Amino acid sequence: MHVEYRVSLPDHDWVIATRHKLIPSVYAGCIIKGNDMGRAEAITYSGPTYVAIRSGKHSSSTASTHAVDFNKLATLNNFKEIMRDEEGRLKPVVLISSDGGPDENPRYPKVISHAIHHFVKHDLDAIFIFTNAPGRSAFNRVERRMAPLSRELSGLILPHDSYGTHLDEQGRTKDHDLEKMNFQKAGEVLAEVWNNMVIDGHDVVAEYLKPDDTAESFVPDLPSLQWYSEHVRESQYLLQVVKCDDRACCGDLRSSLRSILPERFVIPPYPILQSSSGLYIPKPQEHDGKTFATFLLRRSLGITPTHDGFNKLPYDLYCPSLQKDRRQLLERTCQWCGLYFCTKKKVKEHVNSCHKQPNPSSSNSVEMHNVRPSRILTRRSIGRSKEILCVVRENDDTEWLDETDVDFQQSTVPTTDLQDAYPVVSVEECLANPWSEDNIH
Ligand SMILES: [Zn+2]
Ligand SMILES: [Zn+2]
Repeated sequence: MHVEYRVSLPDHDWVIATRHKLIPSVYAGCIIKGNDMGRAEAITYSGPTYVAIRSGKHSSSTASTHAVDFNKLATLNNFKEIMRDEEGRLKPVVLISSDGGPDENPRYPKVISHAIHHFVKHDLDAIFIFTNAPGRSAFNRVERRMAPLSRELSGLILPHDSYGTHLDEQGRTKDHDLEKMNFQKAGEVLAEVWNNMVIDGHDVVAEYLKPDDTAESFVPDLPSLQWYSEHVRESQYLLQVVKCDDRACCGDLRSSLRSILPERFVIPPYPILQSSSGLYIPKPQEHDGKTFATFLLRRSLGITPTHDGFNKLPYDLYCPSLQKDRRQLLERTCQWCGLYFCTKKKVKEHVNSCHKQPNPSSSNSVEMHNVRPSRILTRRSIGRSKEILCVVRENDDTEWLDETDVDFQQSTVPTTDLQDAYPVVSVEECLANPWSEDNIH
C-alpha cells in the first residue's frame, strides 16, 4: 500500500507547495506457517518489511513502480526466506494482496500486464493478486504493519530545504534541480528512520528511489489473447494467472498447487447455509453479501450454485458490488465459451480473436458501448496513453480507465492538475490506524 507524507516547515501545518509529498510504498511480507494447512491463523501478520520512498512531485506510484519494487523485493536479504526456494529461485506461487487503489487493483490492465510478466519471467505456477472489497481495507495485513512505522514518525519533521530553498516567496519552485536534491534528502532522512527498525523480530528495509521515467512508464506487452484466455482469470477483486496443462507451453509444475486446485483456478466464492431440510445455497439476490463458505468447505461439499443464464459459474456471481445491476455480469461473460472477464472491453477483444463468428444469438449479444462512470475525478498521461480516474459504481473503488473507453456524455472532465485533484488529508488522517491496542492479539 502507499501513503503520502508531506514535507512541511516546523512551525506551520500547511503544505509548502502543492505536491510536496513523499510517497512510500510499503510491502509487508507475511510468513505462512508450515504444516498448518486449512487454518487461517497459519497466515501470520509478521514478516519482513520493505519501503520504497518516492517523490510525489517527480515520480509516480503506478503499476510500473510496483513492478520495479517487486523485482527489488526478490533481491533483498530480509525477504529471501519468504520469496526464494532452496535453489534460490522465486517460490512457485505468488500471492499479492494490494490496497485496492486505482493503480493497484487487480482489474487495472497495467497490473495485469505486469502480473503476467512476473509469471512468465519467474516460471511461476501461479500468481494471484487480490484486494479487499471496499470498506474492508482494515482487513489488509499491511495496515497492521503501518502502525509501528507511523509511530516512529511522531514528532519527526522532514527538512524541505537541506541544500537551500528551491522556492520563491510565493512558494513556487524556482530551481528544479535544487528541488530534486532537497526531495531526495528528505526522502533519505525518512528512509533512515525506518531502516533501523525491527518489527516482531523482522528487519525493515527502506530506501529513497530517485525518479526514473523509463522504469515508471514501462508496461510489458500482453501475450496473445488465446494465451490470455487459457492462463488468466479476471474478476472484481481477484486476478489469477495459472500454468496450463500443456508442458510444451508452461513446463512442469514446481509446487503441489494442482492438488489444491484441480480445476487450476480458485473456485468462485458462494455461501452455503443450513436449513431444516439440509444444506442449501441461497440465490445471489437473497444473500447478505457477507458470509461465504470457506474455500475448503466449497471444495469438499458436493453442492454448487445454479447459474441460470450463464454457461459457467461466473466468478463474481455472489459479488456484493455487482448485485445492483446484474446485467453487468452478463455483459462481462463470453456468450460462446462462458469465460468471465472484469470488463466488457476484454470480452469483446476475447470474442473477436478467439471465436471466429460474432455472438451466437443476437438476443443475447453484448452491445459494446463505452463505460459511463458515475463520477470523473481527474486525468493523467503516462507515456502515450491518457487515463481518466473514475468512480464507475457508487461506493466502489476508483479506477483508471483509458480515455477511449470512457463515455463523456454526462460528465465533464476536470482540467485541474492531477496531484491537486487528489483529496488533501491531514497527516493525522493519513496515519490513522484502524487498530487499537486492545484489538491486537
Ligand atoms: Zn501454458
Ligand atoms: Zn469465449
